[in-house]
Amino acid sequence: MEIGPFRDAYSWLSNFGPGPVEYYGIKYPHRENAYQAAKYNSRAAKLYIASLKPGQAKRAGGGKMPSEFLNSLSIEGWDNKRVGVMEEVVLACFQQNKWLADKLIETKDAELIEYNVWHDCFWGRCTCQLHKSRGENHLGRILMQVRKELHNEKAKQLGELYILSIRVQECLPEWKAAGLFKDNQ
Ligand SMILES: [Zn+2]
Repeated sequence: MEIGPFRDAYSWLSNFGPGPVEYYGIKYPHRENAYQAAKYNSRAAKLYIASLKPGQAKRAGGGKMPSEFLNSLSIEGWDNKRVGVMEEVVLACFQQNKWLADKLIETKDAELIEYNVWHDCFWGRCTCQLHKSRGENHLGRILMQVRKELHNEKAKQLGELYILSIRVQECLPEWKAAGLFKDNQ
């Protein structure tokens, strides 16, 4: 099964979808804001981007910012950093919003593909006549990687909970003998 594009019932998979996400001490309303703010060094610029709508944040990442912030734009080597930043932002967002994590885990092993029409063959796959649904789909791949990590975390927690429940059962007779449950028996 395939899921994509990330709109309508699946708009929560988009970086313009719901957050919030706290990233390096600043709370952003959407993943897009956190990602674009990472291109700026100053805290003031990051806070400004945190206050924007996601579409505005995207333009801010492209340099459409009040001039006082522009000297903190730092995109040297950005092409090598961007996938790592996106991985951190997406993982943080899904870890911080349990309902999003649960939705992502519910997609099971569906292939998540950021189909788009705006010629983004890096983060997704563009469906135009020229690109014919080609693309590296890095955003979809990151989401699938995050899904795997969340799934493993959940399995580990459930396992720990199970072991804890067994230990409690083992200890109950001792606790009862010690009079710990006097009032409830
Ligand atoms: Zn295209």
